Amino acid sequence: MSPPNSVLRERPNCPLCQSESPALVWSGRFDAEPTRGWIERYGYAVDVVSVLGDARFELVRCRQCDFVYHRRVLTPEWLSVLYSEWIDSRQIERFEQALRASAFERGRQLVKHVLRVAHEAGGLERPLRWLDFGCGDGAQLQAAELFGFEAYGVDFSVTRSARSGSRILVPDLAAFDALESGPLDVASAFQVLEHVEAPAEVLRSLAQRVRPGGLLIVETPDARGVDVPTTWEQFQVVQPLEHINAFTPATLRAACVAAGFEPIARRPAHVTTRVRELLRTEVSRFYQPSTTAQYFRRAATR
Ligand SMILES: [Zn+2]
Repeated sequence: MSPPNSVLRERPNCPLCQSESPALVWSGRFDAEPTRGWIERYGYAVDVVSVLGDARFELVRCRQCDFVYHRRVLTPEWLSVLYSEWIDSRQIERFEQALRASAFERGRQLVKHVLRVAHEAGGLERPLRWLDFGCGDGAQLQAAELFGFEAYGVDFSVTRSARSGSRILVPDLAAFDALESGPLDVASAFQVLEHVEAPAEVLRSLAQRVRPGGLLIVETPDARGVDVPTTWEQFQVVQPLEHINAFTPATLRAACVAAGFEPIARRPAHVTTRVRELLRTEVSRFYQPSTTAQYFRRAATR
């Protein structure tokens, strides 16, 4: 194993606006409390704390655009060790077990996205082309395919795509480009942007592939108020190894706008037999609190 100081590398500039010298928000050593205890609770396959040793992480806030991010992140080599060895099949199995436990609710949400997209597209005369970036087990693709979409997924993980068949491409957008399928009507990135070293670049590369007027759906954890975590839930939002970007509704919106998208309302969609639920959802037509689950349309001229 390499020495700990080569496991991490610096992001000297803000990943959104490129400005330098951010303000320090929270920092610590991986092998010191409270971070040590939090990391151990993750149940990685190897003793991650001893690999990282006394390396320091730093959560910082950009003075220019307010974006909060981890300044020191795993190098690409160690990132692939994280996702292939530290997170092993046992941990993925636990994660997927949790998904199965909430499968019904998850299914409802997947279908709601399909219904909203169909509405915003204004018609389904031809199959709409949808790319889910960081698609994991491919559930959103399957939901879209069921409704006649031409759906693709991109994921860096070979194991997961091998398990779920369907149109999951690895490891990046180049695999999608190789298909030469034409511009996208919809791109989505669910729980992805908080993981990537250069989120602005990811958004720009999605913008390049979405047709003018096409849609973007993004969701990330909401990091409002959790600069310095004091609970397990808060720690997971700003976890120094995996959640290296801490978006708020405002910074997520700003990042998507900078990439060439315009915010649109998240339309109420009903997948329910319960009147009370229907009414509650309808309220969102008039009142939409800011969240980190957002819809955009690709700007027409750019
Ligand atoms: Zn910035």
